[in-house]
Formats: sequence, C-alpha cells, structure tokens
Amino acid sequence: MNEPQTHSRVWLITGCSSGFGLALALAVLARGQRLIATARQPSALGDLAARFPETCRTLALDVTDSSRVKGVVAQAAEAFGRLDVVVNNAGYGLVGAFEELGAEQIARNFDTNFFGALEVIRATLPILRAQGSGHLVNISAAAVISNYAGFSIYGATKWALEGVSESLAAELKPLGIKVTIVQPGPFRTDFIGRSLERAEGHIADYDRTSGKFLRFLETMDGKQPGDPAKAAEAIIAAVESDTPPLRLVLGKYANDKVRKKLADAERERAAWEPIGLPADFTPTP
Ligand code: NAP
Repeated sequence: MNEPQTHSRVWLITGCSSGFGLALALAVLARGQRLIATARQPSALGDLAARFPETCRTLALDVTDSSRVKGVVAQAAEAFGRLDVVVNNAGYGLVGAFEELGAEQIARNFDTNFFGALEVIRATLPILRAQGSGHLVNISAAAVISNYAGFSIYGATKWALEGVSESLAAELKPLGIKVTIVQPGPFRTDFIGRSLERAEGHIADYDRTSGKFLRFLETMDGKQPGDPAKAAEAIIAAVESDTPPLRLVLGKYANDKVRKKLADAERERAAWEPIGLPADFTPTP
C-alpha cells in the first residue's frame, strides 16, 4: 500500500473562489501542503498559484459539466502524482417554499450540490483505490441536522450527499479511504450574499414560514457567527487525525442543533415506542 505523504498531502478542492473553499485553500497552502484549487472561473482564484508556485496548481472546474470532470480530476492527479484529500465544497443555496420553486431550479440545485459532488467522487475513486489511501471530505449543511421551512430542496441535496457519504464510508474503509461529512452552521462566506438563489414564484401563504426564514437569512448576512478560517483549521485537524470523524460539526450553532436533535429524536421515539415497537412478527412458540 502506498501511504500518503503525511507532511505534504495533495488536496483537490472544488469551489475555491470564496468562502470555505478559499479559506481551506489558503490554510492548506500555509501549511506547506499541496493543492489543486479549482473554480468555475480560474481568474476568481486570483494570484493563489503565483503566491505558492511550488505547491499550488489551479484548474477550471464546473462540477455540473460532467463531460469535463473526469479529465480535470485526471489532470489534478497528474499535477503532483497523487491525490490524498478531495473536498466536495462547491455548492449553493436555494430558498423558498417547495411550491414556490421551479422544476428547473430544483434540478439545477441537485445538479451542483449532489450530482456535481457525485461526479467528482466517481472520477476520484479509481485513483484513491489504486493508491490504497485517500480522504473524501463532503461539505454538507446544518439543514441536514434538522431542516427549515424554505430549505426543502437545498436540504434535500445535502441529505442525499450525506446518504451517499455514509454508505461510501462503509464501502471504502476496508480500501484505506476515509470519508468525512462536514456540517457547518452559519458561516460568514458569500453564501447568503451571492450563493443563495431565491424561488422563482411567490405564494403569500408561505410568508410566515419560508418567507420568514429568508428574511432571517438576509438579516444574518455578514453577521454569521462562523469563521471560515477556523472552519478550515478544523477540517485540516480532522483530516490529519488517525481517527477522523464521519461527521464534523462546525460552530456552536450546529453543535447545539445536533444535541437538540438527538434529544428530540429520542424523546419522540420513546413516546411512540408502545405503538412502533410491537410491529415485528409475533415469535411463534
Ligand atoms: P460561497 O462563498 O458563496 O462559495 C460557494 C462556492 O461554490 C463558490 O466558490 C462557487 O463558485 C462554487 N460553486 C457554485 N456552483 C458551482 C459549480 N457548478 N461548480 C463549481 N463551483 C461552484 O459560499 P460557502 O458558504 O463557502 O459555500 C461552500 C459550501 O458550503 C456550499 O456547498 C454550501 O452549501 C456549504 N455551506 C455553507 C454554509 C454557510 O453558512 N456559509 C453553511 C452550510 C453549508 P463561483 O465563484 O463560480 O460561484
């Protein structure tokens, strides 16, 4: 088995133009690790490669362009001769009540957040399997801990990604490949500012639910408690651990949310146990 070079891992990150992707790119490079930074428009990566000429390469990658993903991942693997950490970060939000969303909006959100990540994973796995090592890091969302009115489809894209990631973790562990799902709460990135698409329709009946959620998001922009640079340090710590978590929950908001979700789930399960538990076949004497 070809062990990863732990002092200088090779990272591939999608969506490095801003937010988590850029913060993680900078943190990885500051540590002297090697990076293939990708973005839809490589010009959005600024002087990253010039600042780190020995350790950084940039490539154009729109994760929805399935005809190009395999070729770009192959180029990325050639850049430094291997891939150790692949971060599926590219994504955007879609907010609005389910009835207000257009079919094309729904499909496009899945194409980026879910199928885009799957394409990257599909292109990456043969390389990681051949190496006998690697780490997939998939950026999820607090909407998976429990979802909000107004985030039905965005949440669904991330739930789908987590469903695949959990199964992959079990399939890939014996092959030396690790999987970590990252669940951030609200972080101060461009997510609300430019990566949050609004529903194309408007139905006044939903103003008190999803409409209220959108107004809340808008007031939170620029004041989110999460610091992307600290998120990057946490992700690197998880990758460098000998026992990385399946889920890394980022920030106080998301940690509180997980604690509440687990307590609520157990309370509801116990309350309904007398109805749910006897649903098995009665054992024959
Ligand atoms: P951001 O600063 O707006 O970054 C989003 C990134 O995704 C941008 O680099 C964007 O590239 C890229 N992207 C979008 N569609 C793409 C595509 N088809 N192909 C390649 N790249 C694409 O927001 P962010 O918060 O860092 O978002 C990163 C991830 O974190 C997303 O998956 C998001 O769902 C998740 N997340 C964010 C938060 C939060 O509070 N910030 C919370 C939970 C989860 P362009 O510059 O080309 O648009």
